[in-house]
Amino acid sequence: MTAVKERRSQQYRMRQVASPIRASAWQAQAACLDTPDVDVFFDDEEAAVQVCEPCQVKDECLLEALAARVFDGVRGGLTAEERARLRAGAR
Ligand code: SF4
Repeated sequence: MTAVKERRSQQYRMRQVASPIRASAWQAQAACLDTPDVDVFFDDEEAAVQVCEPCQVKDECLLEALAARVFDGVRGGLTAEERARLRAGAR
């Protein structure tokens, strides 16, 4: 694993653990908790969106990503670009 990928992976896991919202009950239902390689959330949007597709807490995840202004990776089934368009449309 490259240094950049390792850093991203650590950041992703740290957000999962550190976020006060994810510390709530819904995080236990996150489909990505069972994903062996979280790098897909940064490197392979199509694969990440497929992980999110059946996730039961997509709405909670998306709301957190928007509130926490997470600008990279796939969250809540949306790519960073899709979330940016959503934020822009909300203004
Ligand atoms: S929507 Fe995707 S990123 Fe969010 S918790 Fe579910 S699987 Fe993880």
